[in-house]
Amino acid sequence: MTDIKFSFQDKCPVCRSHGRQAISLMKYPITELYVDWSPEFLEDGFLDQSLLFCQDCSHAYLEKVLDVKFIYQNYITTSAASQGAIDCLKGFKAFVERHVSVNGYEMLLDIGGNDSTFLSYFSDLDLRLINIDPNATGGERYELNKCFLEDVDLGHYKGHDKKIIVSSHTIEHLAQPDELVRRISESLNDGDYCFLQFPSMEMLSKNLRFDQICHQHINYFSLASIKMLLGKYGMHILDYEYDDAHFGTLRVAASLNNVATVDCCLADLSFSSIVYNYEFFRQYYMCLNDALLPIFENGTGFGAGLMVPTLSYHLPIINSLRQIIDENTSKHGKRFINLAPEIVPLARLNLADPVLITSISTKSAARAIFNKLAMLDIKNIVLPTILT
Ligand SMILES: [Zn+2]
Repeated sequence: MTDIKFSFQDKCPVCRSHGRQAISLMKYPITELYVDWSPEFLEDGFLDQSLLFCQDCSHAYLEKVLDVKFIYQNYITTSAASQGAIDCLKGFKAFVERHVSVNGYEMLLDIGGNDSTFLSYFSDLDLRLINIDPNATGGERYELNKCFLEDVDLGHYKGHDKKIIVSSHTIEHLAQPDELVRRISESLNDGDYCFLQFPSMEMLSKNLRFDQICHQHINYFSLASIKMLLGKYGMHILDYEYDDAHFGTLRVAASLNNVATVDCCLADLSFSSIVYNYEFFRQYYMCLNDALLPIFENGTGFGAGLMVPTLSYHLPIINSLRQIIDENTSKHGKRFINLAPEIVPLARLNLADPVLITSISTKSAARAIFNKLAMLDIKNIVLPTILT
């Protein structure tokens, strides 16, 4: 993969100020890519990356934007919804329903709706359910609009009142999130609502989860930066909440009118706090790695979730494991493009061996693996994270 395509982004995608490098991630692994395993390990799938921080609007973003379309065309990826993702969508549904009675609306548009999971929660109601996503799938109940999100034409929905636009874990992937927000704003009428959820930079930094930084997440919004972006196009935050179950999510409810907006309690997110917390995180994993080295050299890991390569970047003992157990049969006999261990079925687990849990990107995934290993009476289980 020597010809990884990418572009540079030196200006803040929200306010166009110049960001400052907060974190340098030399030779940072690309996640989500699996290749067939062979005894000879050929290293591939790395790119020097930086996390930049805009002090004008408290937005963090990547310096290099990977050409994801190119990557996905050339390698095996898996996109099965994880339990953590499902839990997060259910939390999003509850948040939406706290603000609106969906039943009284005429259409619900889900931008980045994927397999229509979120829309399916409302399939019994009498309203149009529209899934806008280049990979949109779902049954006849849903109107599928397959287009790239930066190109989506929302203008023809302007003529419709009583609509709700939602977008879950999507805007962090967009190189030009302002373009999507502008189109959303231009399609809204008074009385319409927009709900967004995405990983929050405050939570990532506060919870020391820098392993959640990945090349696919270009934006790391804070409450301050999403407020600025929405405000740029005449939208106001009516309410918000944080949920640390899945990628430290931030949810916001927004609309065009500014009646009853809330005071946003902006968290203490600064350039120096990010730099300080990252260094603390790095030292923690460095010490943990030294402690685990004699136990897990040539040992066993559990969980080949999408984000293992970024955890391994900070906890390199993962690359010295012999095998990583996973119950997803489509991954068996494979490895991550940038990691040596073979992904194998549960039958290959020796119950006397210690096990390192390698899928920790969401709380529910890590907890489920821990419970399974405890049930199997594994004597030594290591869950290498700070909060789970
Ligand atoms: Zn900015």
